[in-house]
Amino acid sequence: MEQKSISILGSTGSIGTSTIDLISQNPEQFKIRVLTAGRNLNLLIEQAKKFAPEFIAIADETLYQQLKDALSTTSIKIAAGRSAILEAASIPTDICMAAIVGIAGLEPVLTAIPHTKSLAIANKEPLVAAGKLVLDLAKQHGTNILPVDSEHNAIFQVFENHNRTQIKKIILTASGGPFRTWTKEQIAMATPEQAVNHPNWIMGRKISVDSASMMNKALEIIEAHYLFDIPANQIDVLIHPQSIIHSMVEYTDGSVLAQLGAPDMRTPIAYALAYPDRMTTTGKTLDWTTLSKLEFQQPDFNQFPSLGLAYDCLKSGQSACIALNAANEIAVEKFLNKEISFGQIIPILEKSIPHAQGRTVSSLEDIIALNQEIRIRSHL
Ligand code: NDP
Repeated sequence: MEQKSISILGSTGSIGTSTIDLISQNPEQFKIRVLTAGRNLNLLIEQAKKFAPEFIAIADETLYQQLKDALSTTSIKIAAGRSAILEAASIPTDICMAAIVGIAGLEPVLTAIPHTKSLAIANKEPLVAAGKLVLDLAKQHGTNILPVDSEHNAIFQVFENHNRTQIKKIILTASGGPFRTWTKEQIAMATPEQAVNHPNWIMGRKISVDSASMMNKALEIIEAHYLFDIPANQIDVLIHPQSIIHSMVEYTDGSVLAQLGAPDMRTPIAYALAYPDRMTTTGKTLDWTTLSKLEFQQPDFNQFPSLGLAYDCLKSGQSACIALNAANEIAVEKFLNKEISFGQIIPILEKSIPHAQGRTVSSLEDIIALNQEIRIRSHL
């Protein structure tokens, strides 16, 4: 396999460090050109020393001097601030791993697309808020979009594009998160510590809270709609607590194609890194002898109202999807800061979304403005 150059936007996060782990296992296959972080100075320094990229950027400008001092003996170009992240995203690579969390990743993703051959995208929020813009830009530049989110990666692996009119539905599986067996009343009182304690996956704090409210699955419904150009009524959600089947595609002839694997993000990341080949990893694999049962159940839309909100927003249009995402980011932040209870997350969304419904969003500027407006409203 020819060596591929790679940039990792969000290299200090959960997806970023798993990506680095895979590259460490296959150093001859990849050359890291770019690393970016938000504010985790020490980890970025450690990664920069180990991989000697050409350019590194940290979003928090106040950390610039410390970063510069720590790497003063190297030839790595160092920059800080929002513009530095965009500069990092514009460096040409074979693969760009989009692993920033939240809508903060939107402009970096759009900046990276014209300069990379393949965008491996874990960062789902830009797809939720601006899916069409992202995919149109990728089409215009001939950039491969490789889904990293495990469900979408699974669908990507079994989606027969040549038979797309014979696709009956996409079935997104969901573990149900840490509160799957809790009552609505118990869920409303959950603490941040309980919410981030996911039974199957170790992830960043924001996506962990989203998994607990099933907002993660809600965002994934919208993400799937854009990535696979599939209407909402052909996207189903199925609870599957073991997280072994990562999602499925059902065809009109009754065949259901699924992708299975241990719940380890290194599998979908490896798929995206090696695409269209496969790479050897030392991640977790399935042990069929101990795998005694696979369970499934319908999700309860009353217990997890986020799911219904996603379908409503898709029906309503892009402005509602932008608002859903923006309000959720603020609500999750407030919950993690212990300013609101878990039970207050959804009401913040329900209050904010109507302000956006029906609004015309035709450009990136419109999206950014509406996102900002809803973020401010969600604080009220
Ligand atoms: P983390 O919170 O673990 O990491 C986020 C990364 O983004 C970190 O490198 C962080 O930097 C950086 N970052 C945060 N804010 C900014 C900013 N304003 N500007 C630039 N960089 C920033 O998140 P995850 O890795 O869990 O998730 C990343 C994305 O992937 C999310 O969109 C998530 O939904 C998606 N995803 C994650 C999965 C997982 O298993 N974790 C699974 C599927 C999808 P720092 O840490 O230095 O502050």
